[in-house]
Amino acid sequence: MENLSYYEILEISQNADKATIKKAYRKLAKQWHPDRNQGDAEAERNFKFCNEAYQVLSDDQQRSTYDRYGKEGLQNGGGRRSSSSFDDLGSMFEEMFSGGGGGGGGRRSRGPQEKYPLDMAVEIRLSFKEAVFGCDKEIDFTYKDSCNTCKGTGAKGGNVKTCSQCGGKGQVYIRQGFMTFSQTCPACHGEGTMPGEKCSDCNGKGFENVKESVTIKVPAGVDTENRLRVSGKGNIGKNGNRGDLYVTFIVAEDKTFIRNGNDVYIEVPVFFTQAVMGDALTIPSLTGELELKLNIGTRDKQHFTFRGEGIEDVHGHGKGNLIAQINITYPKKLTDDQYDLLDQLQESFGVESKPHESLFESAFDRVKGWFK
Ligand SMILES: [Zn+2]
Ligand SMILES: [Zn+2]
Repeated sequence: MENLSYYEILEISQNADKATIKKAYRKLAKQWHPDRNQGDAEAERNFKFCNEAYQVLSDDQQRSTYDRYGKEGLQNGGGRRSSSSFDDLGSMFEEMFSGGGGGGGGRRSRGPQEKYPLDMAVEIRLSFKEAVFGCDKEIDFTYKDSCNTCKGTGAKGGNVKTCSQCGGKGQVYIRQGFMTFSQTCPACHGEGTMPGEKCSDCNGKGFENVKESVTIKVPAGVDTENRLRVSGKGNIGKNGNRGDLYVTFIVAEDKTFIRNGNDVYIEVPVFFTQAVMGDALTIPSLTGELELKLNIGTRDKQHFTFRGEGIEDVHGHGKGNLIAQINITYPKKLTDDQYDLLDQLQESFGVESKPHESLFESAFDRVKGWFK
């Protein structure tokens, strides 16, 4: 998948509208969801590609940058800003984390001389319960910190020389037939300079990987695709500016409840006699128990809706519903006694117990008439 365009990954045309993009994404995200493909590394990678493609194509600014300049353009600071159409939960932690650092918080795209984007992303998995009710979640992540010794240049003593491969332009040109394509210089990664001698502290990389953990408050109602910005916890650049950490959630499925947005579905097995006679059942809800009253003659697959018993909307727009779906079960064997009882029951209904007879009576006569 990595060689496909974002449009190809989502299996859509280049002029697809937003609704189409979203629909395509949802379908594929479901298909490649790690919960459905446990231990399948390929599925996990595909899931990531789909997320990446959707993040870019669902954001007008990033999409137009991508259309014009490809992935390269996005990495060079054209995009990578907020993408409001991606179910973004905003930065509820701005206040928590931006203090202390002077100019902390706020939004920085990657500066022209940075070796890497300052904003970074991680994915975390939540159990169904954690997502429904919210939780405090500790996240371990690794960020890049610009090397102090070489000021992020990767060069011993900060001494850099002009890149010999691109002559300092940062781009190299490749001829294919009569066409010439430009490409970011693979030797200097577009910087135009190379370390004269490698900095020994960072081995010429210009940065170090640093492990950190942070505890975030996951709001009740988050779902897969939701993303939260943790301000000032991204990579640190040459000037000490720190980017943001974007946390994307992956929510596990539950054994009993099936989630659809803020609604939850539960399948309720009902014996045929209960369905015929009506009954009152106790069924589990997200917070405890509910009484489900079956009317006489409850149908198979019938829905009973409990308003406000679903999941709290993550943006604070009220609660979803709990929907109980009836699954009628029938006996596979009958004892002689049971057979007799049911036979008596059948008889007691008289004509009503054989609805096909009155319906087909006239049809029999008509059909016979056709062959006379
Ligand atoms: Zn170069
Ligand atoms: Zn260094």
